Amino acid sequence: MLKTLRRIVQEVNAAHDLTQASSIIVTRVKQSMSADVCSVYLLDQRLQQYTLMASDGLNPESIGTVRFKQGEGLVSLVGETEELLNLDNAPDHPRYRFIAETGEVSFHGFLGVPIIHRRQVMGVLVVRQRSLRCFDENEVSFLLTIAAQLAGAIAHADARGEIQPFTETPGGKDNRPIVALPGAPGVGIGTAVVVYPVADLDAVPHRKTKDTATEIFAFELALEAVRTNIKALEASIHPELGAESRALFEAYLLMLNSDTLVEKTIKRIRDGSWAPGAWRDTINEQAQLFELMDDPYLRERADDVRDLGRRILAHLQDEVRRQPDYPEQTILVGDEISATMLAEVPRERLAGIVSARGSGSSHVAILAHAMGVPAVVGADDLPVARVDGCELVVDGYRGRIFVSPSPAVRSEYTRLAQEEEELVAGLEGLRELPAETLDGVRLPLFANTGLLSDIAPSLESGAEGIGLYRTEFPFMIRECFPGEEEQRAIYREVLEGFAPRPVTLRTLDVGGDKALSYFPIVEENPFLGWRGIRITLDHPDIFLVQLRAMMRANIGLNNLRLMLPMISNVAEVDRALQLIGRAHQELLATGESVVMPQVGIMVEVPSVIYQMEVLASRVDFFSVGTNDLTQYLLAIDRNNPRVASLYDSLHPAVLRALIQIISAANLAGKPVSICGEVAGDPVATLLLLGMGVSGLSMSAASMPRVKSVIRSFTMNDARRVLDEALQYDDAAAIRDYLEQKLEQRGLGGLVRAGK
Ligand code: PEP
Ligand code: MG
Repeated sequence: MLKTLRRIVQEVNAAHDLTQASSIIVTRVKQSMSADVCSVYLLDQRLQQYTLMASDGLNPESIGTVRFKQGEGLVSLVGETEELLNLDNAPDHPRYRFIAETGEVSFHGFLGVPIIHRRQVMGVLVVRQRSLRCFDENEVSFLLTIAAQLAGAIAHADARGEIQPFTETPGGKDNRPIVALPGAPGVGIGTAVVVYPVADLDAVPHRKTKDTATEIFAFELALEAVRTNIKALEASIHPELGAESRALFEAYLLMLNSDTLVEKTIKRIRDGSWAPGAWRDTINEQAQLFELMDDPYLRERADDVRDLGRRILAHLQDEVRRQPDYPEQTILVGDEISATMLAEVPRERLAGIVSARGSGSSHVAILAHAMGVPAVVGADDLPVARVDGCELVVDGYRGRIFVSPSPAVRSEYTRLAQEEEELVAGLEGLRELPAETLDGVRLPLFANTGLLSDIAPSLESGAEGIGLYRTEFPFMIRECFPGEEEQRAIYREVLEGFAPRPVTLRTLDVGGDKALSYFPIVEENPFLGWRGIRITLDHPDIFLVQLRAMMRANIGLNNLRLMLPMISNVAEVDRALQLIGRAHQELLATGESVVMPQVGIMVEVPSVIYQMEVLASRVDFFSVGTNDLTQYLLAIDRNNPRVASLYDSLHPAVLRALIQIISAANLAGKPVSICGEVAGDPVATLLLLGMGVSGLSMSAASMPRVKSVIRSFTMNDARRVLDEALQYDDAAAIRDYLEQKLEQRGLGGLVRAGK
């Protein structure tokens, strides 16, 4: 059964759409369980009814017409209870309902399992038997596994609007959004451009072409290039090759000349697909044929087909990548969006960002915030490869995406986007005004940066300095470690730009989800692994270069503050201070007039909360990284969309931890600011103000909203709101309460779309 399962999964994965996937499932399941019927019923959430969408064994004409309302029949019972139902004689059950159209007159055995995706019932998978039959444990597990497989396919199809024909009554198209997570506030409307890693067949988006001749030409060029390449390889290492390896090269060349691969791809291009998409489909089809073979040797040939597929694809992508075509209102979509992918889009064309992975505090969201571009993240229900060229609406406040929106949805969001522009223009006037409460308490606001391109907006935002400069971003967009002089120049530009205002440069914080292509770190558990200060202390070579570059950039300005990320114990601080002292001495010895900067640490690992006093005696300031602190306190990977709905920095435990950190720092007389994303969330501003922070550091784009909140309340209001918020026991209730407070002051437009 395991083998059958593996095959079905492979076939379903390669299916083009839900209809094909379901038909594979019903046929294969019926066959392998020796059942008389296998059917899939889909739940229409709005009408609360189940519709037969595929069946092997029932009358084909009943597909799309047989329906069960909630509370009626065994199918809906499985859905309601969210549990499997295994009956040897279904007609004995009180909920049994006989349906003549399906021709199911004499069925007895019944096994139904719910199809569930992210806690939501999507449908029911059923097998039936004419005779009395109780399905055994293996058969039940088999069907449960298939149902889990089907759940993902249904969710994706739902996102594409493909299942409406089965579930909806005519005229009921309601343009449901894909529910994901807010990445950066704002509304974006535009055309999806899917970006994807190179040479990855599964990531190639579906794209249509009108210029078949150019696509065929590009394909033929790629074929020729790989042929030459393989021949060269074969010739160069021929003498050492065994017969088997030689045969492999020959097989590759044969395949590259075969009609199966070449002609089929050209036909697909003539039918309207672009070359990479046509090639992907041909390769998948061919590899699948091998995968389904019984002979293990032939089965393994599937890997060769895919390998060849990747080689050609890499060449094709070289061809295609020459002219990236970004429409005027580009919505950049990808499984994972990197800093480089973002950097490639002209800023004035970027209207929105959608990432299938990540959460509100992952780095794509941080970059989007910094650039002031609306973003939705954790959209793993979005069929990324299929939305290229579609119109998208991105609601970065609520984390919603509409694919090919209806005219009503489009015009509603166009109105909201317009109101948003007016709101932002209205906040412009705050730039020169201080972030001061109604009773005159000032809270310094700093900017978070890391991209040189966002220095200008930070400077213009009225920030009192830089609270967090993430030095890893300049490292990420290069091909190798930048040298001391190159780094000095980058840091100098920021320090000079803001002088005499303070600039906090954080030492390299790579690892976790921030990778350097030229310094790969492969770990099972990267967020608990080699990251931040742990790497730089293990590599004094890298650390000392960076420290010297920072101190040299500070010559004559003296506005540098140096910050250490991911501190989890006292020894790390002591060792880092030692190295900072050494870098300082080395520079002095060469005659450079450097000064020792102030040194602070990030509070982002929970162990620091309990050692604040001893750490305060060693450092000059603290800055709380709530993004990581939330991740580590709540044990929720900040990048994992499956658990992202649990990730919330307004969790009462995080708020209590913040109170403890801030009180300890205040008691020790050391300044403590917040630089995680929560600092730029206007919903949280009153809480942080009430806790007594010394400053907040956020993206330049968030600053006017936060300032607007500070200027609308008194310090007493803030303390009262904090006390009341702490009465609630979960983040959602706290958020609702805080949103209400803002609405009451007429500030609701700061935290949702519209004014
Ligand atoms: C944080 O963890 O809150 C933080 C500011 O650092 P980063 O997001 O770069 O990990
Ligand atoms: Mg961090």
